This record gives sequence, C-alpha cells and structure tokens, in this order.
Amino acid sequence: MAVGDTRSSNFFDFIVDRDTERCIECLVCIQQCPYDANIHRTVEPKGVVSDFAKCTGCHRCEAICPTGCITIRRNPSQFREHDIWTDWHIKNLYKQTATGGVLLTGSGNDYEYPIYWDHILLDACQVTNPSIDPLREPMELRTYLGSKPDKLEFEEKEGKIELKTELAPQLVLEVPVLFSAMSYGAINLNLCEALARTAEAMGTLYNTGEGGLHKRLYRYGKNTIVQVASGRFGVDIDYLSVAAAAEIKIGQGAKPGIGGHLPGEKVGEDVSKTRMIPIGTDALSPAPQHDIYSIEDLKQLIFAIKEATNYEKPVSVKIAAVHNSAAIASGIVRAGADIVAIDGFRGGTGAAPTMIRNNVGIPIELALASVDQRLRDEGIRSHASIIAAGGFRNSADVVKAIALGADAVYIATPALIAVGCTMCQKCYTGKCPWGITTNDPYLAKRLNPDIATEQLINLLRAWSREIKEFMGAMGINAIESLRGNRERLRGVNLTERELGILGIKHAGESW
Ligand code: SF4
Ligand code: SF4
Ligand code: SF4
Repeated sequence: MAVGDTRSSNFFDFIVDRDTERCIECLVCIQQCPYDANIHRTVEPKGVVSDFAKCTGCHRCEAICPTGCITIRRNPSQFREHDIWTDWHIKNLYKQTATGGVLLTGSGNDYEYPIYWDHILLDACQVTNPSIDPLREPMELRTYLGSKPDKLEFEEKEGKIELKTELAPQLVLEVPVLFSAMSYGAINLNLCEALARTAEAMGTLYNTGEGGLHKRLYRYGKNTIVQVASGRFGVDIDYLSVAAAAEIKIGQGAKPGIGGHLPGEKVGEDVSKTRMIPIGTDALSPAPQHDIYSIEDLKQLIFAIKEATNYEKPVSVKIAAVHNSAAIASGIVRAGADIVAIDGFRGGTGAAPTMIRNNVGIPIELALASVDQRLRDEGIRSHASIIAAGGFRNSADVVKAIALGADAVYIATPALIAVGCTMCQKCYTGKCPWGITTNDPYLAKRLNPDIATEQLINLLRAWSREIKEFMGAMGINAIESLRGNRERLRGVNLTERELGILGIKHAGESW
C-alpha cells in the first residue's frame, strides 16, 4: 500500500496494493480505471495512490500496469462473525440507508443454492460397450432446432420415392451451443459483431436480445435470432425477415417477472436508431408483454410472426425457469412455438435488482428435467426443441444438459469471460473496464472485435472438442443419441425427491 492511499467511505471491499518501489508513476492505472479509484497526488505525500472505497475489484489496473506492481486484494477486515448478519447483509443495509434505492447488480445469481451439475456424474464405457476415439472416428454434433413431425409420409412420383410430409423450418447448428440474448445497448457493437462473426464461423447462432439489430449486422442474418420482447424495440418487417429465427421473450432467468431498463445516457445516436426510440430516452421494457395474458394471446403473436415471415422461420418462446415451467412449456408448444428456451436463475444480466436476482426463479437443471419429462408424458416432445440457458460454465454442464433433455444450450457469461470479463458484477454502471458492457466510446475501444472473435471461436472450438471426448467416452457418436439419455447420468449427494425431479438414478445403481 502506498502512503496516502485513502477511502472515501468506510467498510470497503477491495484493497489496491501498490508496490511503491516498483511504481514508475506512468499514470496508466489512472487512465484505465473507469471508477476514478486511482489518483495522482501532487502534494505530499506525492505519488500514485488509490481510494479503496471506489475500487470494484475489476483487476483492470493490475492487468495493465507495466511494472506489475499492483495486486488487488479482498479487504480482510470483517465484522464480528454472525451466522445471520454477515458482512454482505450489513453492507447492503448501509448502502440502502445511504441511497434509499433498490440494490442493483450484474451477472447471474451467485447465492449459495445447489448447483445440480456438480451433483451429476456422467457414464463411461468399459469392456462390454466399447468407447469411441473422437480423434479417429467421425463424431456428429450437428443439431436441428425446430418442430419435428410425429411421422413421415412418402409418396411415389415417376418411379421415385419422395417425402410427402412438409417439414417445419429448422435451424442447423454445427455445435449445440448458441450465444444467448445480449442486447445492443447493454453490450456494444464491437461485441455484437464478434458474436455474429463467431456464430457464422462456427455454424451456430447468436441472439440479438431486445435491443434491435444494427444495420451493420444484417449481413450475419443467417446466424441471427432476433428477439421480440415487451418493449418491441427495433422490431419491424426487415428485422424479422433478415434473421434465421425470431424469439418471443416472456422472461429472463436473472430477473423473472421483471422488465428491463436501459438508462437514457446509454441511448446514443446509433442505439436510438437501432431501438427506434429518441436519443437520450430511457428504454423501458415492461414486465409483461402487454398483449399477452394467456396462451391464446401468445399463439396469436407466434402466428403473427410466422405469417409475417411466410412460415419460413422457426419461432422460439423464451421463459424464465419458475415453479410451473413444465405446464407453461406445454402451453407454449401447444401454441405453436418451434423452440422453447428456458432460462435458469443463474443466467446473467447487465442489470437486475439484487434481491430479485438472488431470490426468484429456480435452477435450470430442475426446470429442464421437468419440462422435458412433461412434454414426453404428453407426447409432444418432438413438436418443439428445447434450449436450456442460465449458468452453463463448461462443456461438462452442456453434455449433462443434453442428457437431461436439452437439444442445445444458450451461453452468455462464458462468452463475456472469453473476451476479458472478470465478473466484477458492475455491468449496470455502464463503465465496464474491459469495454464489454459499455457504450462509452473510450471504454468500448478496449474490445477489439477481431481479437474477441478469435477468442470466442477458440471457446466454442474447445467446448466442441471436449463434448466429442465425453461422447466418445460414453460410446456415442452422434449428439442425437445423447439427448434425453438420462440413463447415462447418476446423482451424488441428492435426496430421493431431487433425484426424482431430475429423473436420474443415484451413483452406484446400475442400468
Ligand atoms: S500503472 Fe503501475 S507503474 Fe504505472 S502508475 Fe500505476 S501502479 Fe505505477
Ligand atoms: S476498479 Fe478496477 S481499475 Fe479501478 S482500482 Fe479497482 S481494480 Fe483497479
Ligand atoms: S462485463 Fe464488465 S462490468 Fe460486467 S462483470 Fe464483466 S468485467 Fe464487470
């Protein structure tokens, strides 16, 4: 710590530990910190110092300092131990006492609820059922998203057998991972473009979120899912026509039942044009879609979009994972959706009320298993594909989700981490130090779309290879054979009730 380090309020979370012997006073850390936590003192004691209370723990200055003399540390000072009144609760009350405001946060629910992926183990082949070497044998990850017919009918025409059944439109994925909804405005155009380019390169899709589609990105339409949310930002016939699919957003895992709010200061000229709202106005998405109060209303919107796009594009409906997800999903499928996307409560967000994020919704693992089972029980599972979302951290989570019943998964936070996010959870400030969730031109320049594209391609490539390794170990050479194959999953440290909802056996039980 430097002499002169300070704190503008008490009970701060991070310490900026600066080795003054190695500091060359280049002032880079001052330019790099968007929160003005680093200060150049020109009066005694002179030098570069920090205001600990302003540090968000983003690690930007630590990564950029040319002499490596900064270490960001957690403030070890703790209040006296109390099982109920932890530091977190006490500091939240202090913040609210000072501001009278709703506590805000970014990213997904990090509260201490069980992560079921960590209680599920995958199977592997031994002796009687041979495993497959993915380096030597072809492995099929191709996935088709959309409604499938119950049966296929063929007819003979001029001596040739032809398919008579008209197939519903399908999205083709070369890897069962899509980029989840992140709106232009919440993230900047550099990142939108990197996501689009990666989706194109890897044969998958990215989702625009509710912020409209910038004209510069129209050329990636074949790899784009456009969202129709409660604010209807940027929705017109060009927007629907250029995309591969449309998604009606009913809910979001990080804030079920809550609308969105992009502050007016983030609505510059480009965002205003893309969202079709005046410059500087707050972009408010209402909590409900004001024309949808029943499954019948939802059906009208699904078919309005299908009609507008000549029945050539699949329509997805996205809901937050809540207690009644299975029945809701059944209604969505019966309303004619081609895809149901379910977003668990660990799904990320640019901004959410902390209390809502931490206390509303359910884990994706339980919602996915119950939705898949309900659709199977009702004989309508093939009528729509399921995309699971909300808290996927690695390829093992993806494989487990597919075995639990998902056709594919949406990821967002891993994509942000791939391009530099350090999970400081301050996205809602609009001052992301890594140029990700910011439209400030000075900060947004920190994200180079070429480098970000390379990082995102590497991420999907690595996960694809690992998914193939898992499949090979299980003796499966097509992802199709893994979907809903819960026999290949076993639970550990779970109750009978939890195992029942997940529809899996306990570890140690054989087939
Ligand atoms: S970036 Fe490093 S060397 Fe430069 S002023 Fe900051 S602490 Fe000193
Ligand atoms: S907020 Fe980030 S850049 Fe600023 S002092 Fe803290 S770690 Fe460094
Ligand atoms: S996107 Fe930026 S602001 Fe948000 S958590 Fe990551 S580093 Fe922090």
